[in-house]
Amino acid sequence: MSLSRRSALKTLAAAGAAVASTVAPAHAREPKQAPADAVGLLYDATLCVGCKACMVACREANGLKPEDPESRWDSPDSLSGNTKNIIKYYSDGEQSSFMKMQCMHCVDPGCVSACMLGAFQKREHGIVTWDGSKCVGCRYCQIGCPYGVPQFEWNAALPKIVKCELCAHRIAEGGIPACVEVCPRQAVIYGTREELLAEAHRRLEAEPERYEAKVYGEFDGGGTQVLYLAPRGVQFASLGLPDLGTRSVPSLPETIQHAVYKGFIAPIALYGVLAVSVWRNRRQPPADDAAAENREA
Ligand code: SF4
Ligand code: SF4
Ligand code: SF4
Repeated sequence: MSLSRRSALKTLAAAGAAVASTVAPAHAREPKQAPADAVGLLYDATLCVGCKACMVACREANGLKPEDPESRWDSPDSLSGNTKNIIKYYSDGEQSSFMKMQCMHCVDPGCVSACMLGAFQKREHGIVTWDGSKCVGCRYCQIGCPYGVPQFEWNAALPKIVKCELCAHRIAEGGIPACVEVCPRQAVIYGTREELLAEAHRRLEAEPERYEAKVYGEFDGGGTQVLYLAPRGVQFASLGLPDLGTRSVPSLPETIQHAVYKGFIAPIALYGVLAVSVWRNRRQPPADDAAAENREA
């Protein structure tokens, strides 16, 4: 059944009014703290040699297909629906560094806050996971993540959101993340957030000339469970780790939060109101629309 012009206009007017009434101003809230048993990774870029064994191990441990199944070579250059872990090489001509990128397992994650259906959750040990049974594919998690981590399976018939889940399936069985297990240089290590922070500060203190004087993720963006050390003279921002300040995205009272929240409340409310309005219009006798069309003519 198609809607008449009048019905369609009524529907859109009702939708607009309802949406306007649902978009309340976003308010700041207190940032969350890491759970006492939070686990994570410490990546020391000064130890990494860029062998990419961690990328191969991540793919195998998580059942991810190669980027191009037709090709004999697999060399992804960014996170994608098939790649949860990427090693990149940075050089500005004078300084250089490798960089490992995967989900940061934020202490107060923007993806969890942006997903109103609860598909993204912070679970045991503070690991952030995605539940496909609750996801409707709106991809607001992608907008909510300040690191650009969640990826969408564009080519799949039933697309999933893909990101590192800290090899939670291996941890649950008493194992450790695959990328950690294979790293020949211990450039990435696994432990509780507390242990990793202590180790990072121990390294900074022991060799201050080797490192940038900061552990990225200790406070950045409200803190993360994946922590970084960078070579002296290489800015974290150059490696793709943005300067977020110390507050988490969900606790920000200002522009970022407004952009994210207003961006997702309005469309969902609009779809809801349209669905209800269409359902109501479908219940009206056809004569109503016919008579109305005749009066308009
Ligand atoms: S890095 Fe992005 S996807 Fe991972 S927990 Fe943080 S906000 Fe979520
Ligand atoms: S923790 Fe597991 S899923 Fe995450 S990057 Fe390492 S191997 Fe990949
Ligand atoms: S396996 Fe270790 S050394 Fe090799 S690229 Fe990964 S983090 Fe770097």
